[in-house]
Amino acid sequence: MRLILIGPPGAGKGTQCQRLAGMLQVPHLSTGEMLRVAVREGTPAGRQAAAYMEQGRLVPDALIVGMVNQRLQAPDCREGCLLDGFPRTLSQAATLDELLERQAMSLDGVIELAVPRDELVRRMLARKREDDDPEIFSRRIVSFEEQTAPLLDYYSRQGKLASIDGLGSADEIFARVRLAVERFRMRSRRR
Ligand code: AMP
Repeated sequence: MRLILIGPPGAGKGTQCQRLAGMLQVPHLSTGEMLRVAVREGTPAGRQAAAYMEQGRLVPDALIVGMVNQRLQAPDCREGCLLDGFPRTLSQAATLDELLERQAMSLDGVIELAVPRDELVRRMLARKREDDDPEIFSRRIVSFEEQTAPLLDYYSRQGKLASIDGLGSADEIFARVRLAVERFRMRSRRR
């Protein structure tokens, strides 16, 4: 299965992706994590990305698209993958469509983890990660609302979107994720 998880910063995508990747036995592709590794290793892409990431801004597509393309072509992605953090803009979504088409791959579904803004702020204050400076965190939320939220409409029009309530315990949320995946599976079989 090939799935995308979309949600604002602090929605719990990482936790749900880990569980889902385990259940489906497909790799979890997190562009945020790939970038953090590149920054730590001091690669040219990492050095360029660092300034954007520190400010809570999206890094330029040129840095991301090549990375994702390469990863999608790896043998472990042949049976599927879980995309987390990509695509984040309509332009990246169009690029992803092209990349998948070129490799005769299709997308089974997109899961939105919906969490209200005040809950995101409450969680951020409770967990305090190094990139969780309140000002930068709000910038990441605004970036989500302005640049990433339009993707929900894009995938909804394709009949691929399942929106899930992201409030509750990780177990409760995962039960909803599993239901959505089951529905995608049935739909893909009928095609
Ligand atoms: P994340 O862990 O997904 O929240 O990503 C951390 C940071 O990496 C983001 O705030 C962006 O600066 C950058 N990033 C991750 N994925 C993308 C993407 N698809 N496009 C642009 N920037 C990204």
